[in-house]
Amino acid sequence: MNKLCPCCLKEVTSDKIKNKTEQYEVKGQKITIMARVKTCPECGEELWDDKLDSENLLKAYNSYRSKNKLLLPDEIKSIRQKYGLTQSSFAKILGLGEKTITRYENGSLQDEGQNNLILMVERADNFIVLWEKNKHLLQRPEIDKTEKIVASLLQTNIKKSLISIHLDIPKKRTPIINLVNDSFSLCYPGDSCHPNALQH
Ligand SMILES: [Zn+2]
Repeated sequence: MNKLCPCCLKEVTSDKIKNKTEQYEVKGQKITIMARVKTCPECGEELWDDKLDSENLLKAYNSYRSKNKLLLPDEIKSIRQKYGLTQSSFAKILGLGEKTITRYENGSLQDEGQNNLILMVERADNFIVLWEKNKHLLQRPEIDKTEKIVASLLQTNIKKSLISIHLDIPKKRTPIINLVNDSFSLCYPGDSCHPNALQH
């Protein structure tokens, strides 16, 4: 696409791109990135380019994100997708504005509080707290779909913790799994255990 060079005042077609360090101010912090800038093939002057400009801004935001331990847009997307939810449904469950998640996944910078909220629901046992509170805002098929996913995630977590318990146990001390209501504890032979303890 032709551009008007502000220096030599010619219409130029340029594929010439140079790399240069640029400093951005993001939420009061100075962020330096290696930016890609289009230049005039005639005089070398830098040319305005919408696509490169937003690419550079996104780079600055991502650098700010990693410095401040904020989630990247793709990480937000993968947390949402883990629950099989659309952007607007995920926003409803979190109590955010309907377009908020869409904006974040497209690169807008999230604030710390909203970042932490999304970070917390990465764990299914945290997610269900908000899910139970807000799922009535969604349509029935989506509720059913997500509940299946969450149930399976929670089951996987339980299996993982059981496996890690087994792995942590020294061989000589085979434990007895003690089931009380829905929870369990471990007893060792010789210790005083719950009468319903299951020999394992
Ligand atoms: Zn020029």
